[in-house]
Amino acid sequence: MRKELTKSQERKKKSGLCIKKFCRGKACDRKGFKCHKCYRNDFKERDPASVAYSALKQNVKARNKPFNLTLDEFREFCRANDYLSKSGRMPDNLQVDRIRIDDPRGYHKDNIQALSQKLNGRKYHDYERFGQEAPEYFGEPESDLPF
Ligand SMILES: [Zn+2]
Repeated sequence: MRKELTKSQERKKKSGLCIKKFCRGKACDRKGFKCHKCYRNDFKERDPASVAYSALKQNVKARNKPFNLTLDEFREFCRANDYLSKSGRMPDNLQVDRIRIDDPRGYHKDNIQALSQKLNGRKYHDYERFGQEAPEYFGEPESDLPF
């Protein structure tokens, strides 16, 4: 289902450049004559959950934690928590948190919750300080926290 290329896209394609407007990246034939970056961006627009899933999985694997979450389970998690529009790097943005840090299943559909970055950071801080005795965080409003 590839769209017809415009004349300028044809020209860029011939010279091996990414067919996206204003992009001077090197094209990859298997990526519809787009560069890696543009391909990834377009893919993200089409299926943001799948891109977020890959990023999470990569990140978890890099930290050597168990990852037992399927893409469909993650999609459900995103829907239930409005995760895709609320995730990010700011303190109030949501992150995927393992409810029990010591649960051997790690990232598993029954062991994850959406927690703000702020609370998640505090949770790990406490975990390091108190170990298993750390108070647990279940995303409750801040006023209900034990301190
Ligand atoms: Zn490009």
